[in-house]
Formats: sequence, structure tokens, C-alpha cells
Amino acid sequence: MPARRPPSDLPGDLELPLTSGEPWWYWTGGRPALDLVNTLRERWWRRVECLCSPADLQRWLAESGLLAPTTSATEEQLEDARTLREAIDDLIVAQTRGTAPPATSIGTINRHLGQHRPPYLEVDGDHARLTQTPPVESVTLALTLIARDAAEMFGTDDRHRVRVCQAQDCSARFYDRSPAGRRRWCTMNRCGNRNNVRAHRRRRSTPGDHHGVHPAHS
Ligand SMILES: [Zn+2]
Repeated sequence: MPARRPPSDLPGDLELPLTSGEPWWYWTGGRPALDLVNTLRERWWRRVECLCSPADLQRWLAESGLLAPTTSATEEQLEDARTLREAIDDLIVAQTRGTAPPATSIGTINRHLGQHRPPYLEVDGDHARLTQTPPVESVTLALTLIARDAAEMFGTDDRHRVRVCQAQDCSARFYDRSPAGRRRWCTMNRCGNRNNVRAHRRRRSTPGDHHGVHPAHS
């Protein structure tokens, strides 16, 4: 699997639309379906498209470990991937609001699931190999694996572990694997720390608070 870049913020003066979103891919979702949703960044503000071309889709799927790096993608598959992405996000939004998932979004995910064929064993040299395990050789099949991840997440109690980062300047989606299920930030060393710093400043700037620090002195 090609190396993944660490997550980084989009600069305020970024020229949009991007020609490639690769520098801004955000691998913190914890599951392929959520990583895909995070390829549309800053959903709370600029909605920055980071799957900009079929080449972007091919590289993103290869970096996700789902697609064999030599397979190329088409414009149509790029559209399919974006449609699937937004259908998955519809389920995230419905889940966080406590409303029923939209039937059209369920239909989109089901359409991808319908392309999934049962895997089988084949002989590979001196051992047996299960087909359709990642990385697969077709973009369509790679998207079915993402649809399957989404279906297994939202079709089971896993849905209660889907989160949207609570930082006011972040809309990243992630899967909460913490034992207590109380994770709030997509990344502790970025959104978590920044929030802690903000909360600390707020406490320091509140007159008469327990620090006894006047705003003019902070
Ligand atoms: Zn975040």
C-alpha cells in the first residue's frame, strides 16, 4: 500500500477548485467508508472536493489498500464514487440527527452491494487465495467493498460509533473505537489539542473565574 500523508489543514487562501486533492486526503476515519466521506473536506464551510479526477480516485483507492495500484479509473467511476460518498454521508447525518436514513441513499449503497459477487478460492502458486479480498483489480469492485463497509456499519450496532468531529472548524467523520465510546475529536493531536487550548483561553479570559485573570492580562 502506498504511504499515506499525515492529515493537514487546508490553507484559507487555497485556490479552488483543486486540480488534485491528493495533498489533502484525510486518513483518520478509521474505516474505508468514512475515509471516503472525508474526501469532501470542510463540509461545514467551503466543501472542498478532494477527489478531483479519475486519476485521483485511482490513487485514493490504491492508498486505501482496496485497489491494485495498476488499475485505472474512468470519469463515470469517479461520478459513482462521489455519489456513493454522499449517500454514505446522508446516513451519517441521519444517524447523528436520530432520523431515518433516506431511501434514495440506501438505494445507492444497495446498488453497489448488488455488484458484489461472492468470493471464492483460487490456487495461487502453492497456496489457496480468497478472491475479492483487497486489493482488488477493479474500481467497481473496490467501491462495492466501501459500500459493504458502510452497510456493515449502518446495518448493525456499529452505527452508534459513527461520529462527526466536534471541533467547530472541522467536519471530519470518524469511527469511535474507544472503550467508553466517548471520543469527540477526529485527531487528538490536532482538533483535540486545539480545542483544549481554546477552552483554556476561554477560562483565562472569563473575568472573575477561578484563575482570577482579567482579559486584559491574558
Ligand atoms: Zn477534527
